Amino acid sequence: MKLTSYWHDTSKAFAGATREPLSGDFEVAVIGAGFTGLNATRTLAKSGVKVALIEAEHVGYGASGRNGGHLNSGHFASFGAAKAHFGEAKARRFWRSYDDSIDMIEAIIAEEGIDCSFRRGGKLKLASKPSHVKGLQAMCEELRREVDPSVEWLSGGDVRKELGSEAFHGAVLSPKSAMMHMGQYANGMAEAAARHGATIWEHNPVQSCIRVSDGWRITSPTGSLAARQVILATDAYTPENFDYFRRRMMPIASFIVVTRPLTPRRSRQPCPAIGTIRTRSTSPTTSA
Ligand SMILES: Cc1cc2nc3c(=O)[nH]c(=O)nc-3n(C[C@H](O)[C@H](O)[C@H](O)COP(=O)(O)OP(=O)(O)OC[C@H]3O[C@@H](n4cnc5c(N)ncnc54)[C@H](O)[C@@H]3O)c2cc1C
Repeated sequence: MKLTSYWHDTSKAFAGATREPLSGDFEVAVIGAGFTGLNATRTLAKSGVKVALIEAEHVGYGASGRNGGHLNSGHFASFGAAKAHFGEAKARRFWRSYDDSIDMIEAIIAEEGIDCSFRRGGKLKLASKPSHVKGLQAMCEELRREVDPSVEWLSGGDVRKELGSEAFHGAVLSPKSAMMHMGQYANGMAEAAARHGATIWEHNPVQSCIRVSDGWRITSPTGSLAARQVILATDAYTPENFDYFRRRMMPIASFIVVTRPLTPRRSRQPCPAIGTIRTRSTSPTTSA
């Protein structure tokens, strides 16, 4: 079975990559065209820096083109736990950084005119058992008081209206959370970076990055280029030839629940599957 990405299968691929062999002299070379590399490249190019972006496969090939599509505010752990761990000021900054990152992405989308169906749909932290309600209500109160007055408690009846499911006993609603089409966003970011003057190579896996007197020499199977500085944005795909970074990666499990393709009529109805999904965990189920 060929595994593909929904985001890539349903977006227009970036068509602005150069077909030339890897070559030239740049102020900055960015390796890896996921969200990290794309936004670094876009930002540098926009401020007039001569920048190259080099991707082993295609724009958004990595986690940026294979994720859940959520832009979530807040964290899985409670604000109280973060406060106990980091202290109040840092915990508050940590929490706000999530909201700030969504605001930043919304601003980039508007600035670059990226058509990626961004919408503030909100996030629900669901009580899948009656015993979850008290803890989640306390969490909701704490969030409202300490970091985000827009967070709301929804009763079981409210959740039923929202999801069409009988399975939940209440929920914390974070209305600032958003969703978007990750493939269209990644490809739109590449187009924006190219428009601002960046040179983008796809299908050029960087094999070596060697220190030379005035910077770095970067080599791929098609050629090589010079750069004063390098940004390595290769994430969990960091290959063995960057062993120093690879050894510093920490694996984190993630998952996505998907449905079969929905008809337009079906997709306008509440999702019945949500009522049948059960986790074995004793902690509350999170959904969006
Ligand atoms: C299953 C799953 C679900 C997720 N869901 C969400 C979500 O809903 N919301 C959310 O905010 N985050 C989510 N994430 C996390 C998010 O997708 C990642 O944190 C983010 O995309 C990382 O972006 P990146 O640019 O750092 O790395 P990546 O997107 O992984 O990009 C790294 C790129 O580097 C390239 N590369 C590697 N080696 C080389 C080389 N030698 N030469 C050239 N290029 C190279 C790769 O081909 C790749 O394209 C999810 C992640 C996963 C795995």
